[in-house]
Amino acid sequence: MKRVLLKLSGEALAGDKHTGFDEPTVTEVAKQVKQIVDGGTEVGIVIGGGNFWRGRTSETIDRTKADQIGMLATIMNCIYVSEIFRSVGMQTQILTPFECGSMTKLFSKDRANKYFAKGMVVFFAGGTGHPYFSTDTGIVLRAIEMEADGIYLAKAIDGVYDSDPKLNSNAVKYDEVSIQEVIDKKLAVVDLTASIMCMENRMPMYVFGLNEENSIVKAMTGEFSGTK
Ligand code: UDP
Repeated sequence: MKRVLLKLSGEALAGDKHTGFDEPTVTEVAKQVKQIVDGGTEVGIVIGGGNFWRGRTSETIDRTKADQIGMLATIMNCIYVSEIFRSVGMQTQILTPFECGSMTKLFSKDRANKYFAKGMVVFFAGGTGHPYFSTDTGIVLRAIEMEADGIYLAKAIDGVYDSDPKLNSNAVKYDEVSIQEVIDKKLAVVDLTASIMCMENRMPMYVFGLNEENSIVKAMTGEFSGTK
């Protein structure tokens, strides 16, 4: 694959702490992404914000404001992860859909392409820039715009199951599943908006477990054992 986008949920960055950052976890991710980039694949990163804040978790404050906090959380995550990536020898840039002064650069397709051409890892922070959306929709939008070959979703679970394996010990993992089936069976891989955009634009999505050893490298180099 020439260009891929990788989504890390906010919680994936927190390790067992479930909040904030777990540096060994992020450093391990960085080392694996470096292997992929060194192998000649362009990698874009989208990170959630759930290790700090999710807009929908507040029932008190205005949803738009709550979502703004969520979008800022994704930017904090990208700044942190970008620095860890740099510490293992990668070049990075962070793009946001709105101005953040000198902290990030404003997203445009041309600008992102310029950074990819320089061998940089591009972080697409701040989601779509709009409330009532998610970073799932953000990654699908950017993958389509940037003409990526596929989206890799690194999850706490190792693929898509027909029911929740935590609740049902007989849950069966799919090797392959259509987005239509994901929608019909409410399999909750990504939210509905993201699912429909993915389906309409025929964007391949690969779901795999981040916690397995060398999982990112394996998923992106043919040893994929998650759900396509
Ligand atoms: N968010 C938003 N618009 C976007 C992307 C994210 O408003 O386009 C906000 C929303 O409040 C969301 C939070 O940012 O709850 C964190 O993103 P997400 O829930 O996708 O993070 P994850 O659960 O993957 O860590």
